[in-house]
Amino acid sequence: MFTEKSQIDSIDRRAHILDLTSEQLSQWLQTNGQAKYRLPQILNWLYERRAESFEAMSDLPKGLRSLLDSEFRLWTTSLATHKKADDGTEKLLLTLSDGAQIECVLLREENRRSVCVSSQVGCAMGCVFCASGLDGVDRNLTRGEILEQMLRLQRLLPNEERLSHVVMMGMGEPLANLNSVLSALDVASHELGLGISPRRITISTVGIPAAIDRLAQHSTPFHLAISLHAPNDSLRNRLVPVNRKIGIESILEAADRYFEATGRRITFEYVLLAGINDRESDARELTRRLAGRVSMLNVIPYNPVRGLPFATPTSSAIHAFRTVLMDAGVNVMFRQRKGDGIDAACGQLRRVTKDKVLDKN
Ligand code: SF4
Repeated sequence: MFTEKSQIDSIDRRAHILDLTSEQLSQWLQTNGQAKYRLPQILNWLYERRAESFEAMSDLPKGLRSLLDSEFRLWTTSLATHKKADDGTEKLLLTLSDGAQIECVLLREENRRSVCVSSQVGCAMGCVFCASGLDGVDRNLTRGEILEQMLRLQRLLPNEERLSHVVMMGMGEPLANLNSVLSALDVASHELGLGISPRRITISTVGIPAAIDRLAQHSTPFHLAISLHAPNDSLRNRLVPVNRKIGIESILEAADRYFEATGRRITFEYVLLAGINDRESDARELTRRLAGRVSMLNVIPYNPVRGLPFATPTSSAIHAFRTVLMDAGVNVMFRQRKGDGIDAACGQLRRVTKDKVLDKN
């Protein structure tokens, strides 16, 4: 990633407070002679009362606020673009302190206030229909950078509204950055953090069996969504190249183990691409794959990406695909595309912005 010299000169060396676990923050308070009860106060300001700065934490002594400000940053990203769609979806393109860019999205659906958050800069999985993976992966995000996306989106809501759902389905493969993702999600689900039920926190993956097994051992069982996108290996190898090293069967076996260990029903995701994986024969094969599994299938008609040769299926193709699944008794949801007009699908806004920069040069 290209970094200007002037940016390097102005790097802020203070630690990101969101990178610290509560144990580390507690230790810091103790080392600095502060009372224990300051910890829940600070956490409350960060996650509940939506403080924009340490200075705004008005029930902390002035000396502690100054000390916090001299040692920590609350925000490490800057807002590059903020887009709003007519359906209430809002998307942020954030510039990280090293100049890299990531995206995150706020979705409004009835009472739900969901955030879709990135786990990496770019992605190494190379799904051929996705804007995020076009240039590979640059780096993992830190725990603080993952949490900061949630807090920035939370602050778009009026005070009386709370975040209800978190989905790790932005840029990147969350299971390739599992330590930071779990550390951030533990805060999202903690009562002193964002207080969101783990059932409403989804980790979406292309399926990495060893990491799914690790996830199954984690103290908090989050909801797992596996992106299948194809009913067999030959088609999936083309759409999700990393599948060549894994194979659908071993992913489904890992999903079964996750269900056994956690009791959590798995969601399978299937992006429907016109003329590629939307035939009735694909739907029939998919039903056979999922038979006997306690699962939910989410089918998402493709959101076109500039420069990629894929299209949204026709409504008659979507209807025929749905009919096969419904007739076979598959537990299926067809998701509406949200945020049309603001490049809301994963990686699109960053891509469009990069393209614009390239167009200019
Ligand atoms: S769809 Fe997800 S896993 Fe696939 S390349 Fe895009 S970000 Fe990565």
